[in-house]
Amino acid sequence: MLALVGSRVWYRTVGSGVFHCERCGGDRPYRHRSGRRWAHLLGVPVASLGDAGEHLRCTCCRTCYRVELLAVPTMEQMLVALLAGTKAAVLAMLTAGGAGSPAARRRGIQMIRDAGAPEFDDARLAAALADPEAASLLPEADGPAVGLRPAIEALSVQLEIPARDWFLAKVVELGLADGSLSAAERDVAGTVARYLGMSAARARGVISLAEEAAQAG
Ligand SMILES: [Zn+2]
Repeated sequence: MLALVGSRVWYRTVGSGVFHCERCGGDRPYRHRSGRRWAHLLGVPVASLGDAGEHLRCTCCRTCYRVELLAVPTMEQMLVALLAGTKAAVLAMLTAGGAGSPAARRRGIQMIRDAGAPEFDDARLAAALADPEAASLLPEADGPAVGLRPAIEALSVQLEIPARDWFLAKVVELGLADGSLSAAERDVAGTVARYLGMSAARARGVISLAEEAAQAG
């Protein structure tokens, strides 16, 4: 039987982009849809009954999500932030001390490789140390030049608290690769910790632990 009058929601697309779809388990295109409820008469919309809310819909699996999901970084954004933050921290630490030490250079290169740039090598490191501004424009940094502060702050937003400790410990280990921390190296470690949003006390704890481990090993 045909409903003579009723109401239904019509959606229109107000935006699109890429987000992290939980259901698909990866980065997927989405449509940002806004709904309006209309009264209809014999299937013809005749009067708007108001807003029916907005949502994001994965164009692959059609699952709908709340718009707040857009605040969650995509996998790609996380990888970009990890690499940019790691690279900025390695360059800062090696510039403070250890740029001339083969062991420190090897460790720094390995950190950058592990962070998502497997092709990073000593020639690239040399170029980056000679000109940090140009280095941040290398393709794997993906994007405009970034300094230590914006790179680490962008990364810290995405790191859980234990991961911040882990990241700082890695940076301290790099500083220790050419012997005990110099004043300048300790300074870089403290600065990285501050940009990560860690308290001074917590940073001191992480730095001491890494120093003790280096002495024991
Ligand atoms: Zn999906």
